[in-house]
Amino acid sequence: MVRVSLEELYKEVILDHYRTPRNKGRVDPHDVALERNNPLCGDEIELFLKFDGGNVEGIGFEGKGCSISQASASMMTEKVKGMDAKEAATLAETIKAMMAGETEGDPDELEDLVSLKGVVKYPVRIKCALLGWNTLLEALEEGART
Ligand code: ZN
Repeated sequence: MVRVSLEELYKEVILDHYRTPRNKGRVDPHDVALERNNPLCGDEIELFLKFDGGNVEGIGFEGKGCSISQASASMMTEKVKGMDAKEAATLAETIKAMMAGETEGDPDELEDLVSLKGVVKYPVRIKCALLGWNTLLEALEEGART
């Protein structure tokens, strides 16, 4: 396997998810729908979650904005779909810590998500990359209350 730099991986993964977003669209019926935005950049995300017991059975998003916000949301839905809701929340916290430079992140666990670290070099973009993850955390909290 060819070792690619974080920069290359970042560009490749972000472009792929931006061009071909996963889980784009509403989930109906859903348990939680939550709309959030990043006014600094004009990014918008509406996230839909459907729970089955403690699992995220269905997840989808609508949105518009820069490639990083939309690609990161797409990557988030791909990873979180079918996950235990508590594990999904832990993952979102890990991603937030990674973007804050507090942890390197485990490549075996995070897989393609480590490429988001490529954004850390561009501080104004971190809010773009975290929009989907922050929305997920809020939606999971809301889901746990219902
Ligand atoms: Zn943005």
